[in-house]
Amino acid sequence: MKRISKKSAKQLWVESIKHMEIFQCFYPGCESGDIIKLHTLQNNGVISQLAEDNQVCMPRTSRHSTYPMDKKRGIELDMVGKNVATTFKGFCKEHDDKLFADIEKSKWRPDDKSAFLFTYRTVCSELQNKQEFMKRIKYVMDKRGLIYDKLPGYVQEDYNSYESAITDLRP
Ligand SMILES: [Zn+2]
Repeated sequence: MKRISKKSAKQLWVESIKHMEIFQCFYPGCESGDIIKLHTLQNNGVISQLAEDNQVCMPRTSRHSTYPMDKKRGIELDMVGKNVATTFKGFCKEHDDKLFADIEKSKWRPDDKSAFLFTYRTVCSELQNKQEFMKRIKYVMDKRGLIYDKLPGYVQEDYNSYESAITDLRP
């Protein structure tokens, strides 16, 4: 029989950070487990121009906060080192190099292709945040022995909205 954790939901939520990473490349059909951390925005381009003392201010929602337990909905502004700002893990090295070479390896140009690549990478980053968030919720539910069908209706609605935020972004 499965053991149900005696830790509070809040304790488990904080603990779930250690279990939220997803080691899958967004590139269709890619099975590489070598997922690298990449910048949504160029570190030596946009981020460097915004940084003061190698830090930038950015909202941290899913990784730092105790949302959904936090009444402020977890939105906090934090100072973040420019080397980690806007980073996420979503592509293997091969596909990161292939897909984003035009906006990483050469000087940024404000053209349609660059706009598309930045937008695409931002969407992938947000999708990954949502997937990690959902993985954390499932971790807490699993440790607490909670089953979707037995949750109150309003909690099921929240769960469904988190799920649809992911399925709406997937092709
Ligand atoms: Zn890949």
